[in-house]
Amino acid sequence: MPVEATPAKAKTPTMSQHEFDGMCEQFSPAGLLQRKIRRNALTGWWQITLSVSACGKRLSDVMVASLLLIVLSPFLIPLVLALALDGRPLLTSTLVVGRWGVPFRLFELNTKRKFGGLLRRLRLHRFPVLIHVLRGEMSLVGPRPVDPKEMDLRQQAARQRSGVRPGLVSLWWLRQKANINFGTELDIDLEYINHQTTKGDFGIALRAIPSLLYGVSAATAPDRVDILGIRVDNFTMDEALQFILDSAVGSAARQLCFVNTDCINKSVREEKYRNLLHKSDAVLADGIGIRIAGKITRREIRQNVNGTDLFPLLCQRLQRSELGLFLLGARPEVVGAIAEWVNKTHPGVRIKGYRDGYFDATQEAAVLQEIDDSGAEILLVAFGSPRQDLWIAEHLPQLAQVRIAMGVGGLFDFYSGRIPRAPQWMRELSLEWVYRLYQEPGRMWRRYLLGNVVFLSRVVIGAVFRKSSNTKNVHA
Ligand code: UDP
Repeated sequence: MPVEATPAKAKTPTMSQHEFDGMCEQFSPAGLLQRKIRRNALTGWWQITLSVSACGKRLSDVMVASLLLIVLSPFLIPLVLALALDGRPLLTSTLVVGRWGVPFRLFELNTKRKFGGLLRRLRLHRFPVLIHVLRGEMSLVGPRPVDPKEMDLRQQAARQRSGVRPGLVSLWWLRQKANINFGTELDIDLEYINHQTTKGDFGIALRAIPSLLYGVSAATAPDRVDILGIRVDNFTMDEALQFILDSAVGSAARQLCFVNTDCINKSVREEKYRNLLHKSDAVLADGIGIRIAGKITRREIRQNVNGTDLFPLLCQRLQRSELGLFLLGARPEVVGAIAEWVNKTHPGVRIKGYRDGYFDATQEAAVLQEIDDSGAEILLVAFGSPRQDLWIAEHLPQLAQVRIAMGVGGLFDFYSGRIPRAPQWMRELSLEWVYRLYQEPGRMWRRYLLGNVVFLSRVVIGAVFRKSSNTKNVHA
């Protein structure tokens, strides 16, 4: 059951009726009117009847919620009866902001009682939200229902967000599960609201099902995670961007590396690359494989900080900055096209120079001179890994102007349009690698089919070995 969107910060209600009414004054006139009508005129069934006729979204919400309740009723009815006999309150509730800012109490089964842990694990404690869907207070897909204190309805964006019913699953929640929830929750909610379609909702609901499998958090999210002997800096996307911007105005030149499963496999085989990763100023987790490794070793990877998602966000931040970029790598037409893409989409960004990545050793000195003469502080190198990272390590000390350099693999190919990127729904399911495999099976099968299996086997063997040696140490 795709039921996961209860507010993370939800608290047991402590608000009095007086406080509750006072709080309602901050909502929009439409919200207050709606609340009045609800209180005085309409019964629950009338609401359902009216809402069903209102639109397709509402119709499908009611149909799916009813179907789920019918299918689950053989489990739910005995469960509710068993819990009712226990004597303690059956339900707990939290005050949340509904459509048009109208608050309502969101119910769930009380898990501080018999079978509480099991209910939580099966997520059955959230089944009362289906009743909220039937009552028209919630939708199957929509922004997370938030605590009134979390939202300031005086802000235009917050009012726009509350123009739709809160949902059991949201786009933000889905992206959070896929570790690609870059930007604020409000931004992602508005993206959903501005592009909402019935087909889109259906896709989100379907994608929520596998996302639930990744749902349980690992034990800890330390600042650094060891993946097969490589130290990965557990940055969020925001932290990574800040690291780049801080480095770009710093005194010492720094190197940043992105690592995916293929890079880690290569680091196991190639000592030079492994040593470079150890020395690098930041090593960031790229892709679902690293995240799964974190789960296996019970170290949560906070976000999928890959270069391809980072690049447009970096451009956004550089829009009003004096800092400049140099793009090095890929074929001449590709690097030219990406410089054009940046100029078109982020006109404030200073591309101080660009050059293709097909040059020989005799041209190297000229390339270094060209980068230095450009005055760029941020250097992006796209030769494929580990070549790009080794090249940076070797030549960064020779570059007087560059403050931060990073290897970005096939990034230029994506933004130049040479290689289309996986559609958003595949990224939200963490299946971007499947799309790359489909695009270039001849080159990618070894990396993904073989490489992922080898990588995960190494991680599992490492985890089992560590566990058994820890147990021996405890008993020694
Ligand atoms: N490339 C380059 N010079 C070379 C070999 C490759 O500039 O001598 C470029 C190539 O055109 C492509 C990028 O390096 O744009 C490599 O992309 P790939 O997908 O292999 O990188 P990965 O994501 O595997 O690190």
